[in-house]
Amino acid sequence: ETEINTLKSAIHTIPDYPKVGIMFRDVTGILDDADAFKLTIDILADKFKDGGYTKIVGTEARGFLFGAPLALAMGLGFVPVRKPGKLPRATYMQDYQLEYGHDTLEIHQDALTELDNVLIVDDLLATGGTIEATTKLIRRLGAKVTDAAFVISLPDLGGEKKLEDMDLSVFSLLQYA
Ligand code: 5GP
Repeated sequence: ETEINTLKSAIHTIPDYPKVGIMFRDVTGILDDADAFKLTIDILADKFKDGGYTKIVGTEARGFLFGAPLALAMGLGFVPVRKPGKLPRATYMQDYQLEYGHDTLEIHQDALTELDNVLIVDDLLATGGTIEATTKLIRRLGAKVTDAAFVISLPDLGGEKKLEDMDLSVFSLLQYA
C-alpha cells in the first residue's frame, strides 16, 4: 500500500494534454526517480516470476521504457512492436482504430515462435486498441499470450474489458477513474 502511494505520487497529471478534456498521466516522473523506477520493475518482476514466460513484448514507445528493464530483471528477451517502417527485417502489420482515424503496428516475423509464452508490458491501458493490435501480432506468430501488465489502467475507458474479451488477464499497478 505504501509502495503504491510512492508510485502514485511520482505520476504527474496534466489536464488538457494533448487536447482539451484529456487528463494525461505522465509516467516520466517514475522514470526519473531511481527508487520509483526500481520499485515498479521489482513489483512487476515479482508478480510475474512464476508465469513461465519466455519473452516480454513492449509497444513503441513507452512500452519500451518499462518492458526492456522488466525483461532484464526477469532474465527474458525483449521484443519490440513498432510504428510502421521502423523494423528493418520482414514484418507483419496490424491496423487498429484511434479516436480519429487509424494507425498500424509491426512486429518482426521471426521475433517469436509457437514455443514462446509472452508477457505484454505497456505504460498505460486506455481503450485497449494498442494492446489488442499487439496481441493479434503476437498470436499471428503462433506464440502464447495470456497476460498484459501496465503501470496505469484507466478502467472507465473499457480497455480491461476489451482485453479480457480476447482472453488476456490484465494487471495494473495504479488505477485512475
Ligand atoms: P489505448 O490504445 O489503450 O487507448 O491507449 C494506450 C496507449 O496510449 C498507450 O500506449 C499509452 O502510452 C498511450 N496513452 C494514452 N493515454 C495516456 C496517458 O494519459 N498517459 C500516458 N503516459 N500514455 C497514454
